[in-house]
Order: sequence, then structure tokens, then C-alpha cells
Amino acid sequence: MKVDILGVPIDNVTMDQAAGLIDKFTASSKCHTVFTPNPEIIMLAKKDERLFSILNEASLVVPDGIGVVIASKIIKGDSLKERVAGYDLVQRTMKQAAHKGYKYYFLGSKPGVAQLAAKNMREMYPGIQIVGVRDGYFKKEDASDIIETINQSGANILLVALGALKQEIWIDENKHLLKNIRVAVGVGGSLDVMAGAVKRAPQAFQKLGLEWFYRLLKEPTRIGRMLVLPQFLAVACFYNKPRK
Ligand code: UDP
Repeated sequence: MKVDILGVPIDNVTMDQAAGLIDKFTASSKCHTVFTPNPEIIMLAKKDERLFSILNEASLVVPDGIGVVIASKIIKGDSLKERVAGYDLVQRTMKQAAHKGYKYYFLGSKPGVAQLAAKNMREMYPGIQIVGVRDGYFKKEDASDIIETINQSGANILLVALGALKQEIWIDENKHLLKNIRVAVGVGGSLDVMAGAVKRAPQAFQKLGLEWFYRLLKEPTRIGRMLVLPQFLAVACFYNKPRK
């Protein structure tokens, strides 16, 4: 079931259910898209028609930010069951990767980051197959070479970490060219976290729904971007779902 948050349909799934769906996708014969919008992306989708339709056509859309869950409680109708952070969802799939036969390709982040992320994940999840990595600072003309390399790698799960909007558009533009990929996930800054370059908030902050606050303390320059949160909640207060 989906919950409409300002026009973006978010799947009302728990972490377990989301991981189960990803497992189902890997056993299918087409490329599925998975996105993890936070309030910033949902607000962007209100203005950006392309992003709006990418999210509307996605195979799985999970609420990355606690703000999205709060908005679902403000807006009349069904509330989202829980926050499903993109980073946690990917980790969850990685725990089962060795026996499920998942093969990952990491695309994105600064040079060296994806390699380090792969090294750390191999240590954390023995037997995991990470069959290729590439940084996210490439030229347009490298596009076909990148697709070819991903196709040759035998990967079935592609993590795309190019930042909000860029990663959603990249996946949408290239999904039909990715012959063996069954799941393409936009993962934002997750490779930086896997590489240890950026730290997740301590569990206590996460449990209280205050991860955004921890991030703000660590990176005060994000204040401009975060001001979208109160604006997002205010819009949610006045949002009326279109009648079906
Ligand atoms: N990134 C990238 N190529 C780009 C822009 C960004 O690979 O052209 C990477 C960046 O290095 C970081 C990730 O995308 O690892 C997420 O970036 P950011 O934190 O700005 O994105 P957001 O918080 O919007 O997801």
C-alpha cells in the first residue's frame, strides 16, 4: 500500500518488508528502481516534474527521513509504519548478500570512496560480492563506458550515490540499458558512511528521530538545506489528497 505525501506515493512498508521486496526484485527479469526520499526531495518533486514522475513510476519508494513519517501522521489518511533509511535498508540487504547471491556495483562519491566502502563492507559481511566500483565524478561522454562496465561486471544490485536529483535522473535515464541489474537504488551519501568518511548519528539520536539534528551539529553549513523541513511540515498541514 502507498501513502500519498504531497503527491509522492511512499510505500507503507517496514524495514523487513522493504528488504523482502528487494529480494523479490533480484529474482525477477527486469530492472527495478528504489528511491529513498527525504523532505528535501519531496519538496523538490513538487517543483520538478521529472523527479515527480520518476518517484511516481518507481518500484519501491521508502521514507528516508523522520520528517516524511511525521508528515504522514499530519496528512489525513493512513500513516507510514516506520522510517526506512536508505543506508539501513542497504545494510539489511548486505547481511543476507552472501547466501542470497546478491552482487553489488557501487557507483558514486569522490574518487577512492567507493573502493574504501567496498573494502569495509567485505570486512563487515564476509563472502559478500562487490563486483565493481566507480567514482561519481565522470563526464557525460563516459556514460556508455560506465554502462558497459556495469553490464560486464555481473552485478544485480546497483547502488548509485550521485546526490539527490542527479542519482534519480541517472537511474531513470539508464535503467533500460542495465542488462543484469535487477535493483538500482539511489543511496545519497551512503558510500561515504560505508567508507567511514561520514558518521551516522548515534543510535540514541536515530531512535528519537533526531538524526537530522546530529547532522546539523556536524555540518552546520547544511542549515540552508534543512530549513526546508519546517516548510515541508507546514505544506503537509494544508495538503488535501486528490480524490480518486
Ligand atoms: N556525488 C557524486 N557526483 C556528483 C555529486 C555528488 O558522486 O556529481 C556524491 C558525493 O560525493 C556524495 C554523494 O554524491 O558521496 C551524496 O552527495 P550529497 O551529500 O551532496 O547528496 P544528498 O545529501 O543530497 O543525497
